[in-house]
Amino acid sequence: MSAASDWTPPVGSWASSAGNRRSMLGNRGRDTSPERALRSLVHASGLRYRVAARPEPGVRRTADLVFRPTKVAVFVDGCFWHRCPDHFTAPKTNAQFWEEKISRNVVRDRDTDARLQSAGWLVLRFWEHQTPEECAAVVRAEVLRRRKDLAARRTAGAAKRDQRSETSG
Ligand SMILES: [Zn+2]
Repeated sequence: MSAASDWTPPVGSWASSAGNRRSMLGNRGRDTSPERALRSLVHASGLRYRVAARPEPGVRRTADLVFRPTKVAVFVDGCFWHRCPDHFTAPKTNAQFWEEKISRNVVRDRDTDARLQSAGWLVLRFWEHQTPEECAAVVRAEVLRRRKDLAARRTAGAAKRDQRSETSG
């Protein structure tokens, strides 16, 4: 072990808070393990999706799983970053900074939901503390339900077009 790795920065120093930030940042991002577990279960059930993609080109937000034809956007929210009612605890250090930061995240989440919903998307949000199995079951059920609706609408549309060409012809 090198001497550098044994060195502990003084409490409250830049290095110490940078270390804290790094470990907190490590809790978010696209490859957190609850999300990976959900992805592999959904994949194993035969559904295909895009990972960490923008559902709607005009909306600058990224969903964890995106089912494009059925318009289902899935988010796995970290309990800390998105203020889970069961597990969020406010950090005692820099309390105001974190309060503002997390509040902004939550406001942004609701704004994302509204923007995607108004563009016809179904937004599914899960907490990282939920079991991947329960999340995967919901995702699968919703995607299949919307796929069925889509097929029904297409059939109805085709029937209408047939009728029109009969009357015009
Ligand atoms: Zn939680």
